[in-house]
Amino acid sequence: MSEKKRMITGDRPTGRLHIGHYFGSLQNRVKMQDDYDCYILVADVQALTDNFENPEKVRKNVREVVMDYLSVGIDPKKTTIYIQSMIPEVAELTVFYSNLVTIARLERNPTVKTEIAQKKEIFGESVTYGFLGYPVSQAADITALEGSIVPVGEDQLPLIEQTREIVRKFNSIYGEILIEPEAVLSNTKRIKGLDGNEKMGKSLGNAIYLSDSEEEITKKVMSAVTDPGRIKKDDPGNPNICMVSYYHNLFSTKEEVEAVCNECKAGTRGCVACKKQLAKNIIDYLAPIREKRKYYEERPELVDKILEEGTKKARQTAKETMKKVKKVMKLDYFE
Ligand code: SF4
Repeated sequence: MSEKKRMITGDRPTGRLHIGHYFGSLQNRVKMQDDYDCYILVADVQALTDNFENPEKVRKNVREVVMDYLSVGIDPKKTTIYIQSMIPEVAELTVFYSNLVTIARLERNPTVKTEIAQKKEIFGESVTYGFLGYPVSQAADITALEGSIVPVGEDQLPLIEQTREIVRKFNSIYGEILIEPEAVLSNTKRIKGLDGNEKMGKSLGNAIYLSDSEEEITKKVMSAVTDPGRIKKDDPGNPNICMVSYYHNLFSTKEEVEAVCNECKAGTRGCVACKKQLAKNIIDYLAPIREKRKYYEERPELVDKILEEGTKKARQTAKETMKKVKKVMKLDYFE
């Protein structure tokens, strides 16, 4: 095993990744590549928990998400990228772990509680066994691969706590063989949507995707929410309540941001010009990402190869973990 601590993270492949993912997790993962033994799982099984009627969507987005990873600089030589469903040991481990957690404990998990409330239109009044149990399968994902570090946002902390509880219980009953992972709070910002919504997402229609074309970016920026009190071009504006100004802070130089604020307040800056400048800056910022993505889009066999090799490597570790698990659980019958 490598000297470096093993980091595990992943995404549900339910759509292409956007700049919220970029600033919220991808940038951090790129930085972590040199200091940790990094694993990223494409969580297709988890995606099916709330997309079980739409397997095509999940399937299609596996490659999209991987191309997004590669385009931002996740390097398959440093980071192992793999497909969750191709590691059957994870499903097996999930079954064993399901004896170690109560339904009441899962229902109390704050992350799960919030998500169930948000997904009322999918689940109605009664949530599926699979969705309620996804923290158990997540515990299997992390421990099968012997992950010791899991970067998370604050809202995901209860999931890692759930994993730690399962690990402690397993180790106390069967023997100390599992690694208890640590959550590392990623010190990154959550990016608001173009409409001012706290969350950026496909269903909200307020996101700029890493793969968006120049025209798409311009169109989206031109529809961003500005200071509603500003009617005429020379009305003094308030950049603090304008999403264009918010995004200038992410994509423009310090001098440009200063000029936006001063001229907006003085009523000497037009919103259209302000948006055009922002669109140009976002386009320039994302240009190398788009270019790299295009390279992979034209070479789907390369993307598949990266995934296949990563999955093979991840499975080997999962097999070794499962061997140890079965031994201590007295399930090693014919060996
Ligand atoms: Fe927003 Fe710029 Fe218009 Fe001011 S000038 S309200 S910062 S778009």
